Amino acid sequence: MTPMQTCRIGDEICLPDSSLPRVVVIGGGFAGISLVKKLKNKPVQVVVLDKNNFHQFQPLLYQVATSGIEPDSIVFPLRKLFNGYKNVFFRMAIVNEIQSESNTIVTDIGTVEYDHLVIATGSTTNFFGLQDVQQHSVGMKTIQEALDIRSLILQNFEKAVVTCDEAERNALTNFAIVGGGPAGVETAGAMAEFKKYILPKDYPELDASMMSIYLIEAEDELLNAMSDKSSENALKFLNKLGVDVRLNTSVQSYDGLNIKTDKTVLLQAKTMIWTAGVKGNVPTGINKENIARGNRILVDDYCSIKGYKNIYALGDIAAMVSDHYPSGHPMVAQVAIQQGKQLANNILLQLQGKGRKRFSYKDKGSLATIGKRKAVADIGKLRFGGYIAWLLWSVVHLLSISGFRNKLLVGLNWAWSYFTYDKGNRLIIRKFRI
Ligand SMILES: Cc1cc2nc3c(=O)[nH]c(=O)nc-3n(C[C@H](O)[C@H](O)[C@H](O)COP(=O)(O)OP(=O)(O)OC[C@H]3O[C@@H](n4cnc5c(N)ncnc54)[C@H](O)[C@@H]3O)c2cc1C
Repeated sequence: MTPMQTCRIGDEICLPDSSLPRVVVIGGGFAGISLVKKLKNKPVQVVVLDKNNFHQFQPLLYQVATSGIEPDSIVFPLRKLFNGYKNVFFRMAIVNEIQSESNTIVTDIGTVEYDHLVIATGSTTNFFGLQDVQQHSVGMKTIQEALDIRSLILQNFEKAVVTCDEAERNALTNFAIVGGGPAGVETAGAMAEFKKYILPKDYPELDASMMSIYLIEAEDELLNAMSDKSSENALKFLNKLGVDVRLNTSVQSYDGLNIKTDKTVLLQAKTMIWTAGVKGNVPTGINKENIARGNRILVDDYCSIKGYKNIYALGDIAAMVSDHYPSGHPMVAQVAIQQGKQLANNILLQLQGKGRKRFSYKDKGSLATIGKRKAVADIGKLRFGGYIAWLLWSVVHLLSISGFRNKLLVGLNWAWSYFTYDKGNRLIIRKFRI
C-alpha cells in the first residue's frame, strides 16, 4: 500500500507520514549512499536530498573528459539505487540553509524537518582566490565539467585544423593541467595517449608533434600523498609518455591564453584543466567556529559537529582531526564510505539507547594510473608500479562503480581501447564556451 503523503506545515516538502525518527541526508555521494545502504529498512525514515538525481563516480571523470568512456557509465540514478528501500525517500533539491534552532533545512523546493541531519555535501574546486583562473579554466569535480572538458579539447582541435596562424594553432594544441595529484596525473597520461593514438588518425592534417601537454605542480613531487617511490615512478612514466612536467611551479594568472607562473610567462594554451585543490561545500547555517582549513566542518571521532546534538558531517566535507591526521582525514572515497557505515551504525545504536563507537579509518591503500598498462600502487608496506599495479587499479575501479550495467559499459570500453588503442567517445554533444 502506498503511504500517505502530507506536508506538515507551510512550505514543507511532501513526504510520507511516519512515526519513525527522520534522518535527513544531504548529498548522494560516496558518504551519503554508504550511510543510506546501512539504514535500509531500519526503524528510521530516511530522506535523501541531492541537487542531482544521480550519484557520480568521480575517480573516472578524467576518462569522460578525455573521451575514454561515456558519461552515463559513471553516474547512477539515485532513485534506482534506492529501489526496494522502503524507508528511504529521495528528493532532488538544492539545500540552501540549515536552521538548527528549529531542526529545519531550507531548500529550493521547500523546507524539511529532521530529527537527525547528516551533511555529506562533499567538496568543490578550490581556485585559491585566483579569479582569472576560475573564469578561464575548467575544474573537474562533476560529470558536467568532465563533459565541458571533452567538448573544449575537441573544439580546440577542430579550430586548430582550420587556422592558418601558427601561433594560434600552437595555443589550441597546448594543454595545461594544473595539479599533480591523482586527477592531474591521470588526465595528463590520458591526454598523452590521445596524442599518440588518436590525433594522427582523427586529424591527419595536424602535425601531432605540435600537441604539448603540460602538468604544472607547485610542490616538488607528483602524487605527494603517496610514497616517494610512487611519486618518482609517476614522474618517470609521464616523462616517457612525453608529458612536460613542471614541478615547483605555481600558476599565478591565466587569461584564457597566457599562463603566468611564479617563474615566468610559461606558455600559451587555450585549455587549462584545474585540478589543483578542493574545498568543502558547507551549507549556510553552520557556526563559523566549526569551519576548519579547506572550508571543512570540524567533527569529533563520531562525525558529530561540536555544539549540535543531532547534526553530523562526513566524507570530504568533514575534517576529523586526529594525531595521525592532524589536518583531517584524507579526502578520498574510502574515508567517505567507512564514515557513512560507521555513522549509520551509531545512529541505530543511539536509537536503541546504546553507546556509540569511535571511527577508525582502515587505509586500504592508494592507486593512480598513468596511461594504459602503467600505474603506481601503495598497498600496506608494498610500493609497486607498472603493469600489475595497472591491473589492480582496473579491477578495483571496475568493482567500485555502481550498477552492473555501468560496470559492463566501462569494462567493454576499456577492453575496446586496450585492444584497438582507440577511444570511442570523441563527441561534441553540446558546445562549450568559457
Ligand atoms: C577528479 C577526481 C578524481 C578522484 N579520484 C579519486 C580516487 O582515485 N580515489 C579516491 O579514493 N578518491 C578520489 N577522489 C575523491 C573522491 O571522489 C571523494 O573523496 C569522494 O567523492 C567524497 O565523497 P563525498 O560523499 O564526501 O562527496 P561527493 O561524492 O562529492 O558527494 C557530494 C554530494 O553532495 C551533493 N551536494 C553538494 N552540495 C549540495 C547542496 N547544497 N544541496 C544538495 N546536494 C548537494 C552533490 O551533488 C554530491 O552528489 C577523486 C575526486 C575527483 C574530483
